[in-house]
Amino acid sequence: MATGEPILYLNGEYVTAATATVSVEDRGFLFADGCYEVTLVVEGSCLALDRHLARLQRGLGELRIDLDAMSLVPVHRELIERNALGGHRFSSVYVQVTRGVAPRSHAFPADTSPTVLVRAAPIAGPTTATLVGGTRAVTAPDQRWGRVDIKTTGLLPNVLAQQAAVEAGVEDVILHRDGVISEGSHTNVYGAVDGVIVTASADHRILAGVTRGIVLELAAAHGVRIEERNWTLDEMAAAEEVFMSSTTAGVRPIVQVDGQPVGQGTRGPVTELLQQLYGAFVDEQVGR
Ligand code: PLP
Repeated sequence: MATGEPILYLNGEYVTAATATVSVEDRGFLFADGCYEVTLVVEGSCLALDRHLARLQRGLGELRIDLDAMSLVPVHRELIERNALGGHRFSSVYVQVTRGVAPRSHAFPADTSPTVLVRAAPIAGPTTATLVGGTRAVTAPDQRWGRVDIKTTGLLPNVLAQQAAVEAGVEDVILHRDGVISEGSHTNVYGAVDGVIVTASADHRILAGVTRGIVLELAAAHGVRIEERNWTLDEMAAAEEVFMSSTTAGVRPIVQVDGQPVGQGTRGPVTELLQQLYGAFVDEQVGR
């Protein structure tokens, strides 16, 4: 039952957001020693929850934090119910798992159990304005660590890069290492080059987006050619289209990079096709 006050899950209990507290000795707070995950909820149904929890499980394994991610499936359901999210077109569930609470010392503490926070709330979701009209981006050096395939809460370089975009008066940032494009601050980035989708390989230099995985599978099934490889700022400058994907934003065109129009400066046919395929996938998954 929804009480009107947001309910979240913290360490085995359902509590109101106002009463939920985490220790100042939590290693998430002190060291960003943890992982997180964000799943889209469409009219009360989680989209691709299995993929999100598989990514979380892998990340926890890499960090050697002991938790069965699948144990969070009923927590997702319960929070959607308790917060009456079925009545909203779009919501999201945020999961954060840290190594737990212990006196500050770098190496793993003994006998500490993970801190598990799950919260769910309505979100605005993608708007027609951004889905059709697209957004503008600046490029910035990728200053993150060497294992960004793990979705850790250590996001300071992402924060600084996104802030640089805001201060440049645009909506998005595209990160690169010495001219080789990695991804956005919270999105994956693609180009359409001679009709072929080009995007960074899902190695340790990017986060393998769940949306990315779905979009590439749909594109491949539709016969669109895909190249997962290094691609550069120079290639992007000559691309017909640039677009991004993420759980909360879906697929959206990037119509301007560093003040220059991408292609014609409007959404292109490859982006539109992928939006249609992804939209149909979402509708099918949530049973519409
Ligand atoms: N890349 C980064 C750095 C991200 O933080 C995210 C999402 O938060 C993505 C890509 C997109 O991933 P997903 O499609 O799973 O939301």
